[in-house]
Amino acid sequence: MLFGRKKKNPIKIADKKVEKWMYTTCGYCSTGCSIEVGIDAQNKAVATRGVASADVNRGKLCIKGIFETDIFEASGRGKEPLIRESIYDDYREVEWDKALDKAGAEIQRIQEKYGRDSFAIVSTGQLLTEEFYTLGKLSRGVIGTNNYDGNTTLCMASAVSGYKRSFGSDGAPGCYEDFENTNCLIAFGSNLPEQHPIIYWRMREAREKRRFPLIVVDPRVTMFAQFADMHLPITPGTDVVLLNSLMHVILAEGLEDREYINKYTNGIEDVEACVKDYDPVSAAKICGIDEDTIRTVARLYGKAGAAMSIWTMGINQSTHGSDGVVGINNLNLITGNIGKPGGTSLSITGQCNAMGTREWSSCSGLPGYRYLENPQDREDVGKFWGVDPEFFPKKRGLTETDIFPAIETGQIKGLWLIATNPMTSMPNTARIRKTLEKLECLIVQDSYRDVETTEYAHIFFPGAVWAEKEGVFTNTERRVNIVRKVTEPYANSKSDLWIISEMAKRFAQGKNVVFPDTPSKVFDEMRELSRGRMLDISGMSHDKLEKQRGLQWPCRDGEIDADGNTVGDQRLYMDGKFQHADGKAKLIPLPFIDNNEVPDEEYPFWLNSGRLVEHFHTRTKTGKVGNCNKYSPTPFMEMNPDAASELGVAHMSYVRVVSKRGDAVVLVQLTQRVPHNMVFIPFHFHDCVNRLTLGLLDPHSRQPAFKQNAVRIEHVDQQEAATMNVELRKF
Ligand code: SF4
Repeated sequence: MLFGRKKKNPIKIADKKVEKWMYTTCGYCSTGCSIEVGIDAQNKAVATRGVASADVNRGKLCIKGIFETDIFEASGRGKEPLIRESIYDDYREVEWDKALDKAGAEIQRIQEKYGRDSFAIVSTGQLLTEEFYTLGKLSRGVIGTNNYDGNTTLCMASAVSGYKRSFGSDGAPGCYEDFENTNCLIAFGSNLPEQHPIIYWRMREAREKRRFPLIVVDPRVTMFAQFADMHLPITPGTDVVLLNSLMHVILAEGLEDREYINKYTNGIEDVEACVKDYDPVSAAKICGIDEDTIRTVARLYGKAGAAMSIWTMGINQSTHGSDGVVGINNLNLITGNIGKPGGTSLSITGQCNAMGTREWSSCSGLPGYRYLENPQDREDVGKFWGVDPEFFPKKRGLTETDIFPAIETGQIKGLWLIATNPMTSMPNTARIRKTLEKLECLIVQDSYRDVETTEYAHIFFPGAVWAEKEGVFTNTERRVNIVRKVTEPYANSKSDLWIISEMAKRFAQGKNVVFPDTPSKVFDEMRELSRGRMLDISGMSHDKLEKQRGLQWPCRDGEIDADGNTVGDQRLYMDGKFQHADGKAKLIPLPFIDNNEVPDEEYPFWLNSGRLVEHFHTRTKTGKVGNCNKYSPTPFMEMNPDAASELGVAHMSYVRVVSKRGDAVVLVQLTQRVPHNMVFIPFHFHDCVNRLTLGLLDPHSRQPAFKQNAVRIEHVDQQEAATMNVELRKF
């Protein structure tokens, strides 16, 4: 019987009257889905669809990609350049030349008065790689500040640091195809179905064919944990203890790959000595995972033959973030699980082009994984750019998280922010607000005028967004793919490449350095600079990238398959040759020191934060997309029902969450996803979770510990809280 169904109308999909489909790559997360954008008769981008022939997503898109064309004309887009004398004045619209002249003059005034490094630049993981490369040329070779970084320090710095310490270079060694070959998968601090839905789908599809064990390590019962064979609800910040204990069991039971260790690594003796102290009984008391589970997981991993680990912010955003990554690498090195199908350490990256900035922006050094500390690298890049190598600093300057304290102490007087929104994304909002107010000049360059940080700027540059411009992104598996321009930049906004190149003209030094005027000419420069290196993209071109739906690096000029297609390497380190001077990987001992903020009597709950599938970062884009925003329009807090009942807190009531830094009012959602002593708040909302976070820094990567904070819960007047919430979330 079809009760009631006859009366239901079938779902109708609106005909968007698409005239043609144009190829591009999604501009949200690092999965790197190939998208086609539908253009109507008025030349307007009106629809998207996944590209079936693209190996990454095989025709699929998540909710963000499906509604991505909505961002082009969303409310709050920047239309014209804006300037004002002080942050208490109103902005006034000006011509581009005037805004650029003012910005150039301010940068030079500050540098002349206080020194070259007194002006800082912080960019993003959102630009196109050609734009990152050009920004690096401007920052390192023309403006000449050493205090230049990206907001990737908030999400990926620990992965970069850990890869460099273990393997001698950044660069994820694995790929998505490893899911199809692995016999065991551990996911550390990664809620894949919500953070990277299409990578999750690739993993699930592989697992449906070959049911390998899936183990999820996460303090919260995430969606991923619910689908896992084993969920390890670890005590926040103690992953290193668990990793040491897994290695303890593997080494004690002879499950390691001794031949691989002897041939390709250094340091096993130090690691063996260190992990001796981490027997499962002792480790269980610190990391909260019982000894039996530790042994079971260690045996599964050690005996798998091919085993892989993936991770995201649960590892990276910790005072032990870099050590956590090294620990994962240690685990894979001692079991011989690097550079082989199904055996890898795969950091799942965050932003669409976080990899591009790591590779080419010169934030942490010089382009193409070159180091400022290496005289030969300075010489080579200086010669290539036409810049005196002596102009380059001899070691890296401050990271983003050290730039803000340097503003506080007066060391930095001016700042240029590009496509990043620290008023929402950085820990301890109150401190960031005061810091920004101290600047003599703040330039904000963003596609959206209404990003919170613009309220503290003197100059605003409206940038084009995503597929309003052309260039490449690199995804999590080192796949470079092309973003084609499918529509003109909104109003009088300009591509970031244009803005950066125009800024160079305002500097005397900029007249001696060539800034190519098209993305493909910039790409040609990068290709030449990459030739013969690990990060070799000399075999790529923009057209080849579209034709082959992306190519993985290294991709060497002239390497083709039997069908005449260009090929790149799927995996790094397949020959066991690493990037340290002796060609070996380093096994590094990781003694654990508990240095996080932990709950106490006054602040009895762990505060955890993370992502929702509908939103991206600070909601600059998804907060305006009705079909994303309607699912999560307002900040909320997950709380355990038993803990709530003890405090007399009801489902869907407002509470005040208080930490030593500040407070935030949120709506309570009761759920067993969080344990009794933990609450979880999504990080996307302004004036919310980062009013509470401390953000202690990892000593190696300088990445903040967003996920280990202590808070208490207080009651609030419900009517007042509801009114306040509505006011706050108004657009
Ligand atoms: Fe875009 Fe990531 Fe969604 Fe793919 S998974 S459509 S890359 S947001």
